[in-house]
Amino acid sequence: MNPPTDPEVRAELIATVRRFVERDVNPVASELEHADEYPAAIVATMRHLGLFGVTIADEHGGLGLDLLTYIGVIEELAAGWMSLSGILNTHVMVANLIADSGTDEQRARWLPTLATGDVRGALSLSEPDAGSDTGALTCRAERDGDEYVITGTKMWVTNGARAGLVALAARTDEGITCFLIDKEPGDRYGGITVSRNIGKLGYRGIETVEMVYDGHRVPAAAVLGGTAGLGRGRHFILAALEVGRINIAARAVGVARAAFEASIRYAQQRHTFGVPIAEHQAIQLKLADMATKLEAARLLTRHAAERRSAGERTDVEAGMAKLFASEAAFEIATDAMRIHGGMGYTTELPVERYYRDAPLMIIGEGTNEIQRLVIARGLLRRHPIDE
Ligand SMILES: Cc1cc2nc3c(=O)[nH]c(=O)nc-3n(C[C@H](O)[C@H](O)[C@H](O)COP(=O)(O)OP(=O)(O)OC[C@H]3O[C@@H](n4cnc5c(N)ncnc54)[C@H](O)[C@@H]3O)c2cc1C
Repeated sequence: MNPPTDPEVRAELIATVRRFVERDVNPVASELEHADEYPAAIVATMRHLGLFGVTIADEHGGLGLDLLTYIGVIEELAAGWMSLSGILNTHVMVANLIADSGTDEQRARWLPTLATGDVRGALSLSEPDAGSDTGALTCRAERDGDEYVITGTKMWVTNGARAGLVALAARTDEGITCFLIDKEPGDRYGGITVSRNIGKLGYRGIETVEMVYDGHRVPAAAVLGGTAGLGRGRHFILAALEVGRINIAARAVGVARAAFEASIRYAQQRHTFGVPIAEHQAIQLKLADMATKLEAARLLTRHAAERRSAGERTDVEAGMAKLFASEAAFEIATDAMRIHGGMGYTTELPVERYYRDAPLMIIGEGTNEIQRLVIARGLLRRHPIDE
């Protein structure tokens, strides 16, 4: 875990990302999103800013910044275009997995190249018949001499086609094991085929794909954590998902902020019955509720990040932040559309994009139904009774 970042350094990077989003992202985001076009030029600048290595330790070539800085960056990116935060998220989770659970060789091999963004990371846990129920995975890795042979279908792999490294969960004799799959970006590599690019309501411009492994061979050294990591993959990945959930909460805050800011601006510009609509009490009540939910979502997200940075268990707090912020973002995006009236329903303003992007945060990194179960389990653990 990185040491706490100097608040001035944190504020400076977040301000830099905000300026970059205003200059390079806001003018083109809707057009790229409607065309479902990958934002190559924007990603190149993100690399230049060092964002792919934001949480990777400086000894491995990253910026070595803390989780609070990371969520600040994510909020700024998501306020411009939520998909950009998704381009970073699985990458950062893979880097965290290697930093926390990898061997020294795996850290030395992968972290420097992930830090520069030369290699991009994808995280592949879900399958067509195993999403919430991660214990139902069927993808199999059979030992064959010094290699493993991987066979199975993985679903919902965000960044899967452009990734050069996939952290993949597969079943071995010991249980579920995480493999670091070194692959060429593209639709085919060895025994791996990107079999489908899944069309989506929002979160466009970034690929989410189905991948088929048909006897793909990897060296035994690809097991995350080495021999000690056999059978521990689910544990490693579920621990990494705590940061993933805080990331999702920060993305929701970003989308909610953009929706709120668009609404409070529009409410003062748009006139009906001789006054700006901001003077109608019905609109004021919406603005007050939106801002309150946004602030509460941001505070829960920061609290979870601070707790995690302090090395404390954060399953409950990350779950609460993700649950509250994602539901708030969906409600705020809906209210933004209402405040914009007919214009909110058009493709001429980004409000419709916020409305389409917000629900992903309800589903991704564990649905909000599952989030409630995680929170309840954690609460019951923290409040035992003596009998
Ligand atoms: C755009 C997108 C990108 C994604 N990217 C990735 C990625 O990069 N890597 C990856 O591994 N996965 C990824 N996912 C997968 C995501 O994590 C799963 O979609 C999610 O965990 C839900 O799984 P499922 O879709 O199989 O739904 P299911 O598990 O089939 O759930 C269906 C419904 O049943 C509910 N439900 C299920 N079990 C219970 C229960 N025990 N109690 C109460 N309700 C329950 C769920 O909440 C949901 O409402 C992505 C998904 C999307 C949509």
